Amino acid sequence: MFNLSASIAYHARREPDRAAIIYRDEAISYADFHERIRQAAALLQSRGVGRNDVVALFMKNSAAFLELAFAASYLGAVFLPINYRLAAPEAGYILEDANAKLLFVDDEFPEIVALETPKVIVDAAAQADSRRLAEPGLAVPEQAATAEHDLVRLMYTSGTTSRPKGVMHSYGNIHWKSIDHVIALGLTSKERLLVVGPLYHVGAFDLPGIAVLWVGGTLCVHREFDPEAVLASIERHRLTCGWMAPVMLSRVLAVPNPERFALETFGWCIAGGEKTPESRIRDFTRVFTHGRFIDGFGMTETCSGDTLMEPGREIEKIGSTGRALPHVEIRIADHEGHWLPAGQIGEICVRGPKVTRGYWNAPEKTAEAFFGGWLRSGDVGYLDDEGFLFVTDRSKDMILTGAENVASSEVEAVLYEMPQIAEAAVIGVHDEKWGERITAVVVLNPGQTLTLEEIDRHCRKRVANFKVPRELKIVEELPRNPSGKVLKRVLRDQYNA
Ligand code: ATP
Repeated sequence: MFNLSASIAYHARREPDRAAIIYRDEAISYADFHERIRQAAALLQSRGVGRNDVVALFMKNSAAFLELAFAASYLGAVFLPINYRLAAPEAGYILEDANAKLLFVDDEFPEIVALETPKVIVDAAAQADSRRLAEPGLAVPEQAATAEHDLVRLMYTSGTTSRPKGVMHSYGNIHWKSIDHVIALGLTSKERLLVVGPLYHVGAFDLPGIAVLWVGGTLCVHREFDPEAVLASIERHRLTCGWMAPVMLSRVLAVPNPERFALETFGWCIAGGEKTPESRIRDFTRVFTHGRFIDGFGMTETCSGDTLMEPGREIEKIGSTGRALPHVEIRIADHEGHWLPAGQIGEICVRGPKVTRGYWNAPEKTAEAFFGGWLRSGDVGYLDDEGFLFVTDRSKDMILTGAENVASSEVEAVLYEMPQIAEAAVIGVHDEKWGERITAVVVLNPGQTLTLEEIDRHCRKRVANFKVPRELKIVEELPRNPSGKVLKRVLRDQYNA
């Protein structure tokens, strides 16, 4: 039986008192979580939700978020987590595109509450006791007999490079993803996972959240990201592992005097979704003396985590996102779709049972993204001779300057070596002479100054002349999407205008 709630029911029978979720410092046992899922399923059913209907969630992280997602699956419905930072017209577009039957929305989002669509308004302040979602006297349905290829989730990509597309996830996708994460990370019921990224994003929900619930571990859910609260929570709940976007990790590593916190239980942290600066990887073990940093490459389209760095190779292979997991194949293709040998740079392509079958309602986008069963990631990179993946750049972020291709991430890595720089994004800005002019957009560390000459002096020693930034923009902050990724298209639009 392929149902997300199947493993919850299993652990509820076996070890009912074991904590499934910690939310606002309150532990919810497997027995309780299972009952909440059943109650939420009864509520969904009473609102007309049935098999294959789409249930949208416009909610911040909470126990209720997870209960509703699992309740939708329990009923054989499809859940659709929406990025809660989207404006009403953007959310409206997704609700319509997905043909959502019912929307759950936190009451702190009045513009979404005002949308004309069938909805349940969630009392955000009362969410610690999410039994309020249930209504007395409702009949609890049977768990639906869902199958491997049935749809369980629609997840719209964060739209870093284009308008959001609805990625379809089947039970099989999530099942194989979980198997791979259990194998690669050696997950057991002792795992207590920090969940601090937004649950509408594949990293926070899947990497490896679902797999931790599979094996009977515990998710410690934070409603919002606060770097100091992360350290306090690791200490208080003796958390063993986590996933963070690189920008979150940077902020956690910058908390003053981290030795105030007992962090020795924290065994590993995965970062992905964007390149983690190498200096942060080295900083990691200074703060988490018992922890290892795991870079991982993945996409919404593949339910996250296609590669993970292996224990003991982090420093030797620094800059790599690790090797493909057992049921994932990764190859590099040239422009014509021919496979390239180790060491050669081309487009990263992924195949395997955790890869989506395509985009909702968009057969032409699906056809563009796949060839011969392989998903084209839109990322440029290479495999070394041991199969370690190195992500060079997104194709759209490559800069073409004077007929030379420059990977923005390579220049960023060199900029991150400068002590003045806290955050860096390198983009190509239209230039009459060069086609694109390499422009460094940076956030400075407190009290620092920086000139283009200093950048020039530093970079010339490290990279070829044509890769050296010709322009410098110092900004207060970089535009990022809610999962923390730098929106380079926003920077390009701004500086091209
Ligand atoms: P879009 O909306 O343009 O499709 P997205 O950012 O919304 O993009 P996601 O599925 O959230 O899509 O992220 C997947 C992308 O994140 C990958 O294609 C890659 O560009 C980037 N990425 C993921 N992991 C890593 C990593 N470890 N290092 C570098 N880049 C990464």
